[in-house]
Amino acid sequence: MNSPDPSRLRAVAEHLSTQWPNRNSNLPTHREAAAWLNDQLASLGLEVALLDYPLAPGPRVFAESAVQVVATLPGTDRSDERVIVSAHLDTINWTDRVNDPYGIKAPSPGANDDASGVACVLECARLLAAQPHRRAVQFVLFSGEEQGLLGAKWLAERAKTEAWNITAVLNNDMIANAVDDHGRSETQRVRVLSPEGRSRELARWMHWEMPDHVKLIFRHDRFGRGGDHTPFNQAGFTAVRMTEVCENYGRQHTPQDTTEFMDFEYLARVTDLNAQTLARIADAGDDVQNVRIDPAQGYGARITWEGSDAQWLYWRDTTSPVWEGRIAVAGNEITVNEPHKDDAIFAISSGGIPVEAK
Ligand SMILES: [Zn+2]
Repeated sequence: MNSPDPSRLRAVAEHLSTQWPNRNSNLPTHREAAAWLNDQLASLGLEVALLDYPLAPGPRVFAESAVQVVATLPGTDRSDERVIVSAHLDTINWTDRVNDPYGIKAPSPGANDDASGVACVLECARLLAAQPHRRAVQFVLFSGEEQGLLGAKWLAERAKTEAWNITAVLNNDMIANAVDDHGRSETQRVRVLSPEGRSRELARWMHWEMPDHVKLIFRHDRFGRGGDHTPFNQAGFTAVRMTEVCENYGRQHTPQDTTEFMDFEYLARVTDLNAQTLARIADAGDDVQNVRIDPAQGYGARITWEGSDAQWLYWRDTTSPVWEGRIAVAGNEITVNEPHKDDAIFAISSGGIPVEAK
């Protein structure tokens, strides 16, 4: 797979933030931006849908509906399963909440929040569409995020009702600010925030694959903040959030959130993490089932599983947050003598998210 192109990422963020410097979901401008994004994804040969959905009434809502974009790259032989990469296309201005409760009166270019994520999603579409993949890959651009995750709630509800088989959701929200208000800088790693369970296994595996670019945060989000991954977590799906390590709180939701403060080389690194994770999941073998560890007393750890596509056995100390080693496996069982089974956690992977032996 090719590498993400910083200049292409910059072009998308600049176009969105200057052509529609206020993409509030209550305003028609967000529809114009969505239509443009829909056309960009269609031009890559994807199946696109501009979805009109009712906006739930709320304190920041006066419009009755909004639109968001879902583009699909069908899979070759496991198209019933899908992996999703997402960001939000809408913006808000929060500089005067008293006189402007809807956040619509002053510009909100939202270059980093979240044209950075949108540019990442478009670039992932370009990179992923260049080759066929086993599973379907979906590229989702939410609206209504700034009104309380309304677009993501609507889509997660639909996904649950229609029983979508979602392998993972990678949500990107503010991923190109490299220097914080105090001058601290981080240009290599992005925070991957995950709640407990399968979502955390996704995050841990992303760290194994690209340790220099992942800062694991074992929380569902930052304090007092929310993101579009959360409605998917709440609907029972595997979903993580990517956010820069060094946030600039002073510019968020203000007219100063412009491309001049973005680091496009950093954004390209975060986009590469997304694209490579998507491709690995989309092309992984069929998941193994019933991964078990033989409880019989002894020095060897005998691990068994069902399914024919196992590729790797991972292990880590019971107190380690990250995987510490792996070896290739095949067939349906393996016995390992180191580390001792009582002292370690083991998992089997078919090339995607490891499944823990229980
Ligand atoms: Zn955001």
